[in-house]
Amino acid sequence: MKNYQIYAILERISELIRVDSRQTGIRYSLHPIQMEALHYLSICNKYSDTPMAVTDYLGQTKGTISQTLKALEKKGCVIKHPDSKDKRVTHLLVTNKGKDIIKSSLPTPMFSNALNSISATESDEIIFTLKKLLSTMLETNNIKSFGVCRTCIYNQAINDGSFYCNLLKQPLDIKDVQLICKEHKVTN
Ligand code: SF4
Repeated sequence: MKNYQIYAILERISELIRVDSRQTGIRYSLHPIQMEALHYLSICNKYSDTPMAVTDYLGQTKGTISQTLKALEKKGCVIKHPDSKDKRVTHLLVTNKGKDIIKSSLPTPMFSNALNSISATESDEIIFTLKKLLSTMLETNNIKSFGVCRTCIYNQAINDGSFYCNLLKQPLDIKDVQLICKEHKVTN
């Protein structure tokens, strides 16, 4: 019964966010899936800005994501960039226009209005509980975490204030470690 109650609450919240996001996207002539892909690309790191990673993150088909990315490119929100080492890999860089859209529209107005009426303590409690639910859902279903780099098991802090990725064998700076990554692994 509790499971159903939690599910129903989250489903209703998701639906309201979707409606809100749809309305916000209309202002920029972007469909909800285009807003979602643009948002993902604005918060992911340079190892995760490929069409395949967007497909994995949004759980959509390759065809849908391909059309979505083409539309974002046509609307000047992203630009394609070939990988410097492997020309078969394409990176999608968010343009200033794309960044401005995300900055001015997310979190969506209905959601922001609600959260502005909630106390800081309540917000912290919500964050704690939702984080727990999300991590448990990902873990128990063996789904990629797409977490923030600094919380990854492979992230090593270096004495000079920089970081190093022990999986990709690459140096990371302070900006890199604040972004999400398709290779992220939760620390135990
Ligand atoms: S440390 Fe983890 S999250 Fe960061 S780049 Fe490496 S694999 Fe990705």
